[in-house]
Amino acid sequence: MKAIVIHGAKDLRIEERPLEAVGTGQVEIAIEAGGICGSDLHYYNHGGFGAIRVREPMILGHEIAGTVKALGEGVGVLAVGDRVAVSPSRPCNHCQYCLRGLQNQCLNMRFYGSAMPMPHIQGAFRQQLVAESWQCHKIDDGISIQEAAFAEPFAVTLHAVNRAGSLLGKRVLVTGCGPIGALAIMSARLHGAREIVATDVMDGVLDLAGTVGADRTINVATHPEQLSAFGANKGYFDVMFEASGNERAVRSGLDVLAPRSILVQLGLGGDIAIPQNVIVSKEIDIRGTFRFHEEFGLAVNLINSRRVDFKPLLTGVYGIDEAVAAFEVAGDRSRSMKVQIAF
Ligand SMILES: [Zn+2]
Ligand SMILES: [Zn+2]
Repeated sequence: MKAIVIHGAKDLRIEERPLEAVGTGQVEIAIEAGGICGSDLHYYNHGGFGAIRVREPMILGHEIAGTVKALGEGVGVLAVGDRVAVSPSRPCNHCQYCLRGLQNQCLNMRFYGSAMPMPHIQGAFRQQLVAESWQCHKIDDGISIQEAAFAEPFAVTLHAVNRAGSLLGKRVLVTGCGPIGALAIMSARLHGAREIVATDVMDGVLDLAGTVGADRTINVATHPEQLSAFGANKGYFDVMFEASGNERAVRSGLDVLAPRSILVQLGLGGDIAIPQNVIVSKEIDIRGTFRFHEEFGLAVNLINSRRVDFKPLLTGVYGIDEAVAAFEVAGDRSRSMKVQIAF
């Protein structure tokens, strides 16, 4: 089988890998769609992020869906021919955090396509994948395999919403309208937000943010005053989903957050300066959000019941042999939202 392997910054190769045997409780899946994620792009463009570096060849990819080709012993819930979205979250289920229901904090997590541990956890941009049956969530007839491959980033934003708590009747600000920001808008809408304002520095992605549910969009590069107007009377928003990782987005967001509001940080931008006086005087909660676990099943449920439509967010689908071109397009925000690979 072919796999998409990162060797270092700008060194992405299509390589042959041996087929794997399916074991007890496992299923063999022909991967058909894989979405390129921000983390895949970090490995491709920079060879890693923060202190994390690619130190050995690693198959990329974790936003995946495909068709079941074979079942191992003891797999009762799936059948050959089923189409499934595959959760890349593989916690150990016996460490102290797993036992508290915090699987996304697992000490032994084997999340696909991660260079955090050594040896690296190989990813799922490959033609054949052997996965545990519990990772596989069946998708209904009529749902495209491309839509199914949105389950993973969608689950990230559903977890972010869970971290925020109830959004019912809340005024929500989303900063950064890449795929995660756009999906956060959809998740916030589904969870009862009263009003959603979205910001970015590019008109193209802001148009899409409006298409998927933002009530108002603001280009903070050309019209920063439109956002700062929300700072009157100590601020306006109850919840902010920060999906840009940009320091200016955090700071201008803090200015327009109301007292006792919540800032949920999704974006990863490294070290930034935070105005302590604003956090203290407005009693703002800052909360991180990291991956997801049980939200993956909810994501597939919402896709199957057609409560969400990801089609506006899919920029294009590239063949596996065009993977380098796909990564180049995915890394250019002026040309793309979500780029997928067909296997
Ligand atoms: Zn992802
Ligand atoms: Zn664990």
